Amino acid sequence: MPTEGSVDGGSSSPKYTRVLLKISGEALMGPQNYGLHPPTVERIAEEVQKVIDLGVQVCMVIGGGNIFRGLQGSAQGMERTTADYMGMLATVMNALAMQSALEKQGIHTRVISAIPMDQVCEPYIRRRAVRHLENGRVCVFAAGTGNAYFTSDTAASLRAADMSCQASFKGTQVQGVYDSDPKTNPDAQFYPHISYDEVLQKNLRVMDASAIALARENGLPIVVFSLDEPNGLAGVVRGEGVFTMVSHG
Ligand code: UDP
Repeated sequence: MPTEGSVDGGSSSPKYTRVLLKISGEALMGPQNYGLHPPTVERIAEEVQKVIDLGVQVCMVIGGGNIFRGLQGSAQGMERTTADYMGMLATVMNALAMQSALEKQGIHTRVISAIPMDQVCEPYIRRRAVRHLENGRVCVFAAGTGNAYFTSDTAASLRAADMSCQASFKGTQVQGVYDSDPKTNPDAQFYPHISYDEVLQKNLRVMDASAIALARENGLPIVVFSLDEPNGLAGVVRGEGVFTMVSHG
């Protein structure tokens, strides 16, 4: 079992002033097998609210796997680039749902797309996005990197670096990184800390390899934690609770 206070022990003040939260599309499905589960989206928005209340600036990148994955489309005979564009459009739908849930709680939010679609959301202009953060707005980055053959994980590392975030937080269904799946192996070993190189060498499924490599090149720590834990996100932003820190060895 992982133990609490994995890195620096507890403290009530946040350890970061600007963070990026990566949420996979699947995290928005709740108990369903497909699509959006509004109560789950609202619950995640409440977790984000608690981080905003700490005075931390929040960027988000949301995947699209709950609606469409390019690889699946191409496996079914669709042209890969077209399938990837459909996947990117799925991330925009999820980002709009998250914006709606955040704004319902009174958090001003901007959806910022890597693929311009002016009637729906803002285009990505770095300086404008920084201004939003400084004004206390959440920036939800949509459409991934805007390029086929990439993933939302890579978009998370890219945007975190570009927006000068101090860490990228990856919410999962388990408490961090293990050497095997803790849902099927009760003896799975938990890592409170692991290096980028070890994640890549052991092929641990934290984020895809290009996302890890990009984080490594920019010295961007990745904090892997459970999204299912109430107050989990606000806790790990304060360095409390159970999580895995991926950084230089
Ligand atoms: N995608 C893409 N380029 C990107 C980000 C995403 O082509 O920069 C497409 C890709 O087809 C992917 C889909 O969007 O399968 C959904 O994103 P992802 O699988 O990363 O979502 P998640 O697993 O985080 O839900």
